[in-house]
Amino acid sequence: QLASREFQAKTREIKIGDLTIGGDTNNTILIGGPCSVESLEQIQESAGLIKSLGLTTLRGGCYKPRTSPYSFQGLGLEGLKLLAKMREEHGLSVITEVRDATHVQDVIEHSDIIQIGAKAMYDQGILRACAKIKKPVLLKRGFGTTLQEFVQAAEFILSGGNDQVILCERGIRTFETKTRFTLDLCGVAYLQEHTNLPIILDPSHALGYRYGIEKLAKACVAMGIDGLLIEAHPDPSVAKSDAAQQLSHDQFKALKSAIEPVANSV
Ligand code: PEP
Ligand code: MN
Repeated sequence: QLASREFQAKTREIKIGDLTIGGDTNNTILIGGPCSVESLEQIQESAGLIKSLGLTTLRGGCYKPRTSPYSFQGLGLEGLKLLAKMREEHGLSVITEVRDATHVQDVIEHSDIIQIGAKAMYDQGILRACAKIKKPVLLKRGFGTTLQEFVQAAEFILSGGNDQVILCERGIRTFETKTRFTLDLCGVAYLQEHTNLPIILDPSHALGYRYGIEKLAKACVAMGIDGLLIEAHPDPSVAKSDAAQQLSHDQFKALKSAIEPVANSV
């Protein structure tokens, strides 16, 4: 299997703009930004934060896979255009998610990393479309997905011709209800041992609350992972999605400082 260490012992190297993730680089990339792109003003502030910290990759969802049809569903193509504007104006790489196969080509066109969300992970239309491109794909683990199913989803992309797949652990569903999901660090250890794919961790969606994100981020980085995906909003109290877990910009800055001693480089 293409994702296995037997096929290739070394972790794959993936280029995101000028940044390299995986390989022998041993650095941890920090990706930040809001859960959803909400307005020009909001995403400009987010891009400003990323830029001011010397980071290079901005996240923001435009097609939100919400649990309720009555919740904010994202700005769609208008949001993608706002992200593309940030990419032009600030020289940032952008990552955004595909919700279903109907807009996969738009996302591919407007982003530098294509995020396949936890709920979209089984969508073969998306997996097959992402197999045909030459851009990095961040594949999130579904919250009820076994490690084997997760790696098999990655194989669809790899075997279809795209060798740039990054795995993302974002929490799985357990019996516990006090936290939103359970961050599966044992699963991360398994993936590091058995696969050659870079790994990014998303503690924001796993915990679901702001309070412990910084500590979790430190624990993740200490495991020698390749990157972190963290949600931050200029004013989390008015966020249109995932308001409880998004960090304020001050908290995001504090998180970056907190992980620096644990990481080789951020
Ligand atoms: C997100 O990144 O905002 C998101 C919806 O993530 P997930 O697919 O992991 O729930
Ligand atoms: Mn979110």
